[in-house]
Amino acid sequence: MKKTVSDIDVSGARCLVRVDFNVPFEPGTTTISDDSRIRAALPTINYLRERGARVILATHVGRPKGIDDSLRVAPMAARLSELIGAPVTVAPDSIGEETEKLAAALGPGGVLFLENTRFHPEEEKNDPDHSAALARLADIYVDDAFGSAHRAHASTEGVAHILPAVAGFLLDKEIRMLGGILESPRRPLATLMGGAKVGDKMAVMERLIENSDMLIVGGGMAAAFLEARGMRTGKSLLEADGPQMAGRIESAAKARGIQLLIPTDVIVSTELSADAEASAVSSDAIPDDAMLLDIGPETRDTYTRALRLCQTVLWNGPMGVFEYEQFAGGTRVVGENLAQYARAGATVVVGGGSTAEAVDALGYADAMTHVSTGGGAALEFLEGRTLPGIAALNDAD
Ligand code: ADP
Ligand code: MG
Repeated sequence: MKKTVSDIDVSGARCLVRVDFNVPFEPGTTTISDDSRIRAALPTINYLRERGARVILATHVGRPKGIDDSLRVAPMAARLSELIGAPVTVAPDSIGEETEKLAAALGPGGVLFLENTRFHPEEEKNDPDHSAALARLADIYVDDAFGSAHRAHASTEGVAHILPAVAGFLLDKEIRMLGGILESPRRPLATLMGGAKVGDKMAVMERLIENSDMLIVGGGMAAAFLEARGMRTGKSLLEADGPQMAGRIESAAKARGIQLLIPTDVIVSTELSADAEASAVSSDAIPDDAMLLDIGPETRDTYTRALRLCQTVLWNGPMGVFEYEQFAGGTRVVGENLAQYARAGATVVVGGGSTAEAVDALGYADAMTHVSTGGGAALEFLEGRTLPGIAALNDAD
């Protein structure tokens, strides 16, 4: 276990808080289209401010090559200021004399927002001098950026070796929720996988098979599992080695005596577009000119009945191309039911960028036990890998 902000005395301290405010924008504007990553960091920011800490926030935005005016932190600082109802000063840089002066001048509860950490190439190189320059701004390092914890950069890892380094509440919750799935889930545990490709999720599935009681597969990757069982999937999205990977997963599941569910019926179409005509067919009768784009009604029913028996569900990957209404039904039905099971006491943890987006759009995010803000970091964590940003934090006593 890692130390958290509540394990140390933060009163009056200058805290460098690494957050993940790399939020989506309306295309071509600075209007934030989804501020959930900002809201997710509020418990830590508010806790620190209430104790008179001086809060110095750092985040990366996008992938700039040097200074890029379209990737400045000003819009996030403005949204944060609205959310906390207090002024937020934007520093001209993430390090340097002027920034140090602003950090030193902060009063108790004051908030300074550093400019995009990635404007310096040294950030991603985890340059020791750059980490030292960041460390000069504060007394304590607080990491609340789970979405960046799989990267060993100066502001996510390097600086944690210089200052006392603790987890914020969001990072702590992510570790407890995702760690709980790997280590001590209430059983039965179902892993529900979907999304586009098997290849993206292969490592996670192999790790989760080790301790799941049930593996349920939907989304585009279902095509690989159907092909592995000798069915034809027409023009469906299929990686060259997809069936082989799916076959490996199926053997591993068999060897461990785990139930593997794959779709018995699917929603298909000859094209993927807003006005595509969708129809439900049996999984062994997908026409040659059609693509599998969602799980079918019988499969939705089977899956929700199986999931209902589980105390813990990890859901990663949408059941279909939910971006189009005709192919959103599987994701909606599964999401709706999981929200209901969570309300009834099951532990339902949702991971993955698109899955979180889908759950949010459906309005079920609050009903779930936890919706990870992690994306790629959550997948790496669930693969059982050590995330450098977490490893670098101080261990709890
Ligand atoms: P996450 O970000 O939650 O980990 P992925 O990135 O793996 O999920 O997958 C999300 C994408 O998978 C979505 O854009 C969705 O449209 C796509 N997808 C889901 N089902 C299918 C399908 N049957 N065929 C093609 N793409 C699919
Ligand atoms: Mg994704």
